[in-house]
Amino acid sequence: MASSDKPTSYLPATDALGRDLHDLRVSVTDRCNFRCVYCMPKEVFGRGYKFLQKTELLTFEEIEKIVRVFSRMGVKKIRLTGGEPLVRSELERLIEKISNIDGIADISLTTNAALLSPKRAASLRSAGLDRVNISLDAIDDETFMAVNDVGIPVQKVLDGITAASEAGFKSVKVNMVVKRGLNEHSVLPMARYFHGSGQILRFIEFMDVGNTNRWHDNAVMTGAEIISLINAEMPVETVSPNYRGEVAQRWQYQDGGGEIGVISSVSQPFCGDCSRARLSAVGKIYTCLFASDGFDLLSLLREGISEAELETRVRKLWSRRRDRYSETRTVESVLKPKVEMSYIGG
Ligand code: SAM
Ligand code: SF4
Ligand code: SF4
Repeated sequence: MASSDKPTSYLPATDALGRDLHDLRVSVTDRCNFRCVYCMPKEVFGRGYKFLQKTELLTFEEIEKIVRVFSRMGVKKIRLTGGEPLVRSELERLIEKISNIDGIADISLTTNAALLSPKRAASLRSAGLDRVNISLDAIDDETFMAVNDVGIPVQKVLDGITAASEAGFKSVKVNMVVKRGLNEHSVLPMARYFHGSGQILRFIEFMDVGNTNRWHDNAVMTGAEIISLINAEMPVETVSPNYRGEVAQRWQYQDGGGEIGVISSVSQPFCGDCSRARLSAVGKIYTCLFASDGFDLLSLLREGISEAELETRVRKLWSRRRDRYSETRTVESVLKPKVEMSYIGG
């Protein structure tokens, strides 16, 4: 390491509201093989849409540098996301690089699993990937195809879940976004399907991320409503959080059928414990999922900034952070310009 690249310190970074930085989400592409109607609706992300060119994306070497800088500020967990992260070629090479960085203890991936063959799952695992979260919004083809809008059948994702389960990851979780009028009738069928399967199913409230998904609060089925619906048929009880700041509230079936979770980001915001930064595919850091703009690291890297200087800049950015969008959401704030989900990946 060049002397100018010596880390300034290994101290945790704390923001203006006393929140330490622990996690970094890394989006590796803005492209996706799905067109989920609540995320990349076809009328916006159609044939004419200009996706990023390869040269505009962070290279794996640049991501590695950024993760190293963040690890010196207390980040231990990295989540890879997209767009769809499995459409970025050689993702395993990035995972290997990240898993060799001091201080990084956990690497996970969020995927729609359409490209998660048994071979791919095994190569991701051996590259150092620890956990996988798979998104699945319905268990019947008609609803699921209405969500993904590209004709992918449920079985394709179930095969991906099986492949992940057999590849030896530390955990495989299934995430379902619930949007009223789209798939709320799938909550119980999904709960029944995964009850007793060993897989943890988590329900996510539909959020007003970006400006293209036509969010409205009427479309949010709250975590409390979801739990009450499930509880009426399959009684559940609460489980204590695994750690402070865990975003999912945990529940378990009283009959031993396993665990479920709800992520009530709209109805019960958790900004007070939000320890997460997000890196977009073009190298901008966002300190909140609902931010209008990010802080451009790619330009700094391509101008030759040292890692030590990069760390100083990011520390300053985090120290000024006062984001608490979900706690202060208003009719007006919903309409303000916000980064699209496919740029920062949830
Ligand atoms: N393509 C991958 C996938 O779908 O798992 C990773 C990126 S995707 C943006 C990450 C997660 O965000 C998915 O579980 C998706 O369902 C969720 N998501 C997308 N738009 C959302 C919204 N408006 N509200 C809540 N969750 C959303
Ligand atoms: Fe693609 Fe994931 Fe967005 Fe669906 S939720 S369009 S799979 S990025
Ligand atoms: Fe964190 Fe922003 Fe979500 Fe609040 S709204 S939990 S600050 S990402």
